[in-house]
Amino acid sequence: MGRSLSIAILVSAAIALMLLLGAATAMAAEAAATNDEVAAYKRAVEKRFAEWLQALWPDAQAAGVSRAIFDANLKGLKLNWSLPNLILPNPAGPGGPPLPQALAEAAKPKHQPEFDAPESYFKAPNLTALASQGRAKLAEWRPTLDAIEKRYGLPASIVVAIWGRETGFGQIDAPYDAISVIASQGFMGRRPDDFRKQLIVALKILEEGHATRAQMKSSWAGAMGYTQFMPTDFENYAVDFDGDGRRDIWGSIADALASTGNSLHTQGWDGAKPWGTEVRLPKDFDCTLQGPDKARTVAEWAKLGVAPVAGGAFAAERLADPSFLVLPAGLKGPAFIATNNFAVLKLYNNSDVYAIFVGHVADMIARNAPAGFVGAWQPVERLPRDRIQRFQEVLVAQGHDVGKVDGLAGFKTRQAIGLTEKKLGLPLSCYPSSAVVDAVLKEASAAGQ
Ligand code: CA
Repeated sequence: MGRSLSIAILVSAAIALMLLLGAATAMAAEAAATNDEVAAYKRAVEKRFAEWLQALWPDAQAAGVSRAIFDANLKGLKLNWSLPNLILPNPAGPGGPPLPQALAEAAKPKHQPEFDAPESYFKAPNLTALASQGRAKLAEWRPTLDAIEKRYGLPASIVVAIWGRETGFGQIDAPYDAISVIASQGFMGRRPDDFRKQLIVALKILEEGHATRAQMKSSWAGAMGYTQFMPTDFENYAVDFDGDGRRDIWGSIADALASTGNSLHTQGWDGAKPWGTEVRLPKDFDCTLQGPDKARTVAEWAKLGVAPVAGGAFAAERLADPSFLVLPAGLKGPAFIATNNFAVLKLYNNSDVYAIFVGHVADMIARNAPAGFVGAWQPVERLPRDRIQRFQEVLVAQGHDVGKVDGLAGFKTRQAIGLTEKKLGLPLSCYPSSAVVDAVLKEASAAGQ
């Protein structure tokens, strides 16, 4: 019996082993099948991409691109499958293979992004390092920056702060081939029409010889050079400042910085005015008064009890400036009043915290000031972006203007939150919180919205 038991054990072990091997073989076969599926799918999509590229010719030609440049740069171009946020077609094309499960999984966002607390944007060590490098760069590039200021009215400190913010003074690599990134975004990115246009302009830049294909690098989002221009920014604002006949934002610091100066100047920067300043609000201030659509003069803000954080009164020469209130964290963080120059900075990157960051670093550079604000960033809740987006949809249905329904709390959403908090009798904050989001979503679901 002992013997037959051990035989039985041996037999079952052998069976188990065979089963395991079988499973491994099946898995390998499945992996091979998946690889074949993925390869067939990618081939089919690449074929459609090649057709899509060829179909650009009439528009490229109309824009002044030669057939030689068109073919040299687009023939045989491959999609960059590694870019984030691509929308993979399903199926690959009419009658083509469906999107394989493995690729669909890989393309899914890894986690639901949360809306970042504004405070996380302003880490003091980062600000301090950037301002200190910025002061060194400012000294190094003084004559060029002075010439840029003279021609475009842009303070050297602002130009240097943008250079630092965008690429860490050129230390942050923009490693991608711009043509491949922009074409991939045009074919299957989230803003195909925009990138299709960007691609044609990128070809025109090559046609005009401002950069070679090898020099024309970009970020994964297609932003190029020391201060991160899209091709259409290049077309509209890039200048040849070092006088070699090429507008070289990739290799010439003078060209890149002057192009930034020209961009802000052309879009309305007023060299006689600051970007803005941090202020102190009186207690229980009405935060729905924030935003560019609620602009008033500095004198009028002073009348409402708004005061400079440094104490005292606003400078007399500033009193007539039209200014608007910026509350990036509602009443739970520092407050600023900003001029139209702040709105111009937002054309570079449409975000209040971006514009405050650049303005603040520029002030640190220019005045040798320490990092940080007088107003405290109070703790805020980090809500998932999709929840804020749903909340925005309901606010829109209720007749509010929230700006872009994107899960972010721009000034219009913050205004709408303030109005809603008032209506519901909640403490006024003008910033997303579970209290206001839950109340609004609950009300909507009760109303069957
Ligand atoms: Ca040049």
